[in-house]
Amino acid sequence: MKLEAVIGLEVHAQLKTNTKIFCGCPTNFGAAPNHQVCPVCLGMPGVLPVLNKKAVEHAIKAGSALNCAISENTRFDRKNYFYPDSSKGYQISQYDRPICVGGHLMVEGKKIRIHRAHLEEDAGKLVHSGAAGLHGSDYSNVDFNRCGTPLLEIVSEPDLSSPEEARLYLTELRNILRYVDVCDGNLEEGSFRCDANISMRPVGQKELGTKTEVKNMNSFKAVQKAIQSEIERQTLALIAGERIVQETRLWNDATGTTHVMRSKEEAHDYRYFPEPDLVPLSIDKKWVEEIRATISELPEARRQRYIGAHGLSAEDAGILAENKELADFFDKVITLNVPAKQASNHLLGTTLGFLKESKKEFAETALTPENLRDIIVASTDGKIGSTIAKQLLIELLTEKGDVFSIIEKRGLAQVNDESALREQVQKVLDASPSQLEQYKGGSTKVRQYFFGEVMKAMKGKANPQVINKVLDELLPTPA
Ligand SMILES: [Zn+2]
Repeated sequence: MKLEAVIGLEVHAQLKTNTKIFCGCPTNFGAAPNHQVCPVCLGMPGVLPVLNKKAVEHAIKAGSALNCAISENTRFDRKNYFYPDSSKGYQISQYDRPICVGGHLMVEGKKIRIHRAHLEEDAGKLVHSGAAGLHGSDYSNVDFNRCGTPLLEIVSEPDLSSPEEARLYLTELRNILRYVDVCDGNLEEGSFRCDANISMRPVGQKELGTKTEVKNMNSFKAVQKAIQSEIERQTLALIAGERIVQETRLWNDATGTTHVMRSKEEAHDYRYFPEPDLVPLSIDKKWVEEIRATISELPEARRQRYIGAHGLSAEDAGILAENKELADFFDKVITLNVPAKQASNHLLGTTLGFLKESKKEFAETALTPENLRDIIVASTDGKIGSTIAKQLLIELLTEKGDVFSIIEKRGLAQVNDESALREQVQKVLDASPSQLEQYKGGSTKVRQYFFGEVMKAMKGKANPQVINKVLDELLPTPA
């Protein structure tokens, strides 16, 4: 019996609002514990929630970008459950009338459907002290700061069939939410969290098998590993003739396995009922249209444009579009009549390397589109070599400057003068008699050594074509 995996993902995306969804408390990350709370988000008696318009606007924007229909009549419901980090004893969520319905996004040409997306409030956080933790004792602290932070829960259809596909879906979803600027997508700070529903079925069977839900994955890599591990566990169990139990399992990144957290509740266990403190929400079509009009080009359209109109490879287009700031910059550079391929090479090579090494975001760099154009023009004209171009780019990412005056001031211009280079090549050959013997003996790889020595002596400024030409002339014929 050949089995296939069926995967659906639930993402909790924290919406970028200044204040919480039902009160005026700030939503800043990292504030002192229990310093961003009020009677409303703590659920004190006699208080009333007031819906944050910005949270609704963000949900509409995200839903539109995900090709969802926006419900004209939506409402909030109470989901009742006990949780130590939620003092109300219930969560305001949406049950049968979610704000966004249907939708899809594309993963490498495959359409992954979105079932729904609904608004809800977040719970607080337990901070476990651990036996050797805070104050050396074994207890937990509760921090209510996160209570009432607006979340959009985005539920996919079970259209994903591999851990890799799940990772790509999450990457694209986060990308889209960042493009429309409704979620910062920061996994470490918990503003983009994912749970996975996984089941197995014989290939060709229509009905779904019993699913388990896996939680507690803190990176896209962890999601991929957790799904892989759960597929393997279920496959072994099914082959052994066991039955899969519907349950929630926790991923443990250290052991690389999942373990049972609780048996899965059904929706009716939560005793959902319409939230009596909030009126149903009617959404004006005109408002939806206004919000929709603010959405500019999304990642998929951008990738297609880069491939079609600018001749980039699918891979380069993908990497570029994934970083919105970098892609916005690229778009500005190519309006300056710079060849797209060259601009993209500089951004995907040296620039991304620099960002990774310096742990910076592109917006924190000093580079201007004119800088990159000038570097490309100077190298195309042969004024500077590729090594210097790279150095200049790194320098201008770090601090503001003008390409041509730096070249002038520091004498970085490429040396194209053949007689000067011939002199330098001769010097290197004279200083390396043993390497020259090796070369004569047939080990032609030594040519690279001579080339490197000449370049080093010229501080990277020599024209490589001229060095090669002179080496052709001056090197003896190898055996
Ligand atoms: Zn509050």
